[in-house]
Amino acid sequence: DYTPDVHSSQEGVLPKQSKQTSDSRSQSSVLYHQLRQPPLNIVGGRGSYLITDSGQEILDATCGAAVSCLGNSDKRVHEAIMEQLRKVPYCYSLYFTNSAAEELSQILVDSTGGKMSRAFIVSSGTEAVEASLKMAVQYYMEMPVPQPQRVNFIARKQSYHGNTLGSLSVGHHVGRRALYEKILAKNVHHVSQCYPYRDMQDGETVEAYVARLAQELEDKFQELGPDTVCAFVAETMTGTTLGCVPPLPGYLKAMKEVCERHGALLILDEVMSGMGRSGTLHAWEQEGVVPDLQTMAKGLGAGYAPIAALLVNRHVVDTLTQGTGAFSHSQTYQGHPVACAAACRVQKIIQEDNLLPNVCEMGKYLGQLLHQKFGDHPHVGDIRGRGLFWAIEFVQDKKTKEPYPPSKSVAWTIHKTALKPEYSISLMPGNGGIDGINGDHICFAPPYNCTKEEIEMIVNRASRVVEEVLGN
Ligand code: PMP
Repeated sequence: DYTPDVHSSQEGVLPKQSKQTSDSRSQSSVLYHQLRQPPLNIVGGRGSYLITDSGQEILDATCGAAVSCLGNSDKRVHEAIMEQLRKVPYCYSLYFTNSAAEELSQILVDSTGGKMSRAFIVSSGTEAVEASLKMAVQYYMEMPVPQPQRVNFIARKQSYHGNTLGSLSVGHHVGRRALYEKILAKNVHHVSQCYPYRDMQDGETVEAYVARLAQELEDKFQELGPDTVCAFVAETMTGTTLGCVPPLPGYLKAMKEVCERHGALLILDEVMSGMGRSGTLHAWEQEGVVPDLQTMAKGLGAGYAPIAALLVNRHVVDTLTQGTGAFSHSQTYQGHPVACAAACRVQKIIQEDNLLPNVCEMGKYLGQLLHQKFGDHPHVGDIRGRGLFWAIEFVQDKKTKEPYPPSKSVAWTIHKTALKPEYSISLMPGNGGIDGINGDHICFAPPYNCTKEEIEMIVNRASRVVEEVLGN
């Protein structure tokens, strides 16, 4: 167990001052997002903390991007990785399978109660999304009576599905798409999010709002020609772009009904919300729907290895098996033995340590504390989440919900301020406002094994950061 190098303060614990300022960091030859200044250099990690080269110990309140769900130093995962390395580090999946990939796939299939029957294992979320889109197209081509006209995808505004061209096309992160609009797929169409804070009308019931969204999807099918739609793609909980928005009760069910009516597939992207983050292994379990295709990534390997997967429903697998008998897509690092061994161990630890109840309990506590600390803040418009996945959305004006202008970069300013030695906390910023619709937000996604004390520390530090940036 790790005790950070800290001195006491009224708040509980504060990290000691970093010895080095960012200005004294040397230039980097790594091409990061920011070209002009390299980010902090992390040289160590223990428990929920990341340690920089200057000795600053940063409480990672977001597991990176909702990734490191077991914290940074689980020796059981280290050992599993070493064991696999000693056996064999790599084999090419076009010629061979390997025991780690076999075991992981079985764990994943079993976790769905057998509703999904195969796992396609890759290295990142965006690859899993790409695979899901290609598989959906192939599915219709290989049906007993092929439906080659199904070339349209319907996805949602303000969604994020990754940064490669296919996933960027189904996603709708305005900022990330901007430069590439002209080369993005033209056969993707976007409908509204389920985003009650901004889109539910005054006096509208949940049922009426959900019915309105289902009607919008139905209208989109009709506009495109119902038999030209291949799939509807949605994040089960909207992560990156809006910030931790859970679906309203009945929403995904209503959307799936529309898909079924027209014979289209439902693809749920659980890259961020899956593998326990929402309180259940799969976020869809809480919605009474089963997707046809499902992606997952971050909580799968908990950051110990780059790994993601596409889970495929039995009826899709059967169609492809009876068709050409091959998925027309493959990648060099598919089913990578070391990554699979890491993920197997991570998934067993989530079960052995009984972490899902902790996600629910600590998530509830996090939600309560966020409401207590930020509920009355004049610039906090909304507080929302589920499991250990929460966000607060900032507004200039609480009554009108007017977002801050993108030029103010509120969320990123909060993120940068939080990294100052006196706060030493990593918060995930979302630069909403960029499309002029939603506000800036920050996300909280602590490890599944976090304690009450850590949750308190996270909320206390975050509230002091917000006070410095936006007042109180
Ligand atoms: N889908 C969703 C829902 C995501 O949140 C993300 C990453 N934030 C991706 C896809 C892309 O994953 P990756 O960055 O691993 O490519």
